[in-house]
Amino acid sequence: MNKQSIRGIPDARLRGARVLVRVDFNVPLDESGNVSDDTRIVAALPTLEYLAQRGARVVLLSHLGRPAGGPDPRFSLAAVARALGQCTKYPVHFQSSSADEAAVAATKSLGDGEMLLLENTRFHPGEEQNDDALSRSFAALGDLYVNDAFGSAHRAHASTAGVAAFLKPAVAGFLMEKELDYLGKTIADPKRPFIAILGGAKVSGKIDVIEALLPKVDGILVGGAMACTFFKAMDLETGTSLVEPDRVGLAASLLDRAGFRLTLPHDAVVSTAITNGAGAHVVKRGAIPPNEAMFDIGPDTMQSYGRAIQSAKTILWNGPMGVFEHPPFDAGTRAIATAMAAATKGGATTIVGGGDSAAAVAEAGLEGEMSHVSTGGGASLEFLEGKSLPGVDALDDK
Ligand code: ADP
Ligand code: MG
Repeated sequence: MNKQSIRGIPDARLRGARVLVRVDFNVPLDESGNVSDDTRIVAALPTLEYLAQRGARVVLLSHLGRPAGGPDPRFSLAAVARALGQCTKYPVHFQSSSADEAAVAATKSLGDGEMLLLENTRFHPGEEQNDDALSRSFAALGDLYVNDAFGSAHRAHASTAGVAAFLKPAVAGFLMEKELDYLGKTIADPKRPFIAILGGAKVSGKIDVIEALLPKVDGILVGGAMACTFFKAMDLETGTSLVEPDRVGLAASLLDRAGFRLTLPHDAVVSTAITNGAGAHVVKRGAIPPNEAMFDIGPDTMQSYGRAIQSAKTILWNGPMGVFEHPPFDAGTRAIATAMAAATKGGATTIVGGGDSAAAVAEAGLEGEMSHVSTGGGASLEFLEGKSLPGVDALDDK
């Protein structure tokens, strides 16, 4: 990584200092307003506890949900502060504002090794406008800035990008560093064979990823509804499957350019409707009945993709192989997750990117079996497309 990280800041500089950390605590809340999944909180702990352990006063900024540019109790971070308090032994305080004098006072009354979570940054319209005045207010909350919010790094907002111009040093946290290492360095210089498995609903959302990966990979294995747009480009029957008619030409051109490096499913699990799991059956590709749709890759495909995963040294996976939210159409996605887990054990580097793919891996209980599961859905995709991330660009160069 060509950006500075907290590793480079001497311990003496951290003791007693107010370290402003932008985290991604955009976590799901249940009906009673409690945190229902603390994955993102846990993912930030290495950075937060490293700082607290060195006697820093840890001041935290995050957004939550999409409030309409003003305070809205439904999107308060108060419940998140409680959840953080349960994850760490360090004291956690909450302040119901984030860019006023009361917030600054709260940061100054913190003890060494204590944490303070401030209220939702999106309660200020200036956050998403990357407003300079708001960025300066955020900068007053700390003595140095750490960005650990990889999941928000693809947005140029006041708390992710703007503030870094007014508060120095501005460095990356451990989670940010890990994400950039896996999604950047590993893929730029992979152990080979390097394969990518791409799925999901639409080709349109993944075109730039395919284009960016094609010159780097030894193979791309396609699944999900995305495969059907390629089938259409091959003049195969796709029935009522999700096909993007305006992308068929593009799919044909990708097939042309990729040649043998792009593999499509050999067989498919089809049915008349997502809700008709009982009617699911397997057909060869090209034999999808006109009144049915492909909802998952078939067993032959699961096997051959599994073998490809087994023989690869670096495997990047983005996008479910089928409608994994509706069993039995989750089998293909589970098969890939299981094969990836086995590959990790065998010494391969396995990386999962994308919100739904990460959710599928978590559902299968296999998160711990991958080298890296990205915490950033949209950010990981944009990064894989080769785009630069404003939240990363704003940090100090090495
Ligand atoms: P990620 O979030 O991991 O990047 P995507 O958002 O691109 O993944 O795609 C996930 C969605 O694709 C899921 O909601 C899944 O149901 C859908 N999907 C996968 N295969 C199919 C299919 N054959 N038909 C319809 N939808 C599909
Ligand atoms: Mg998604």
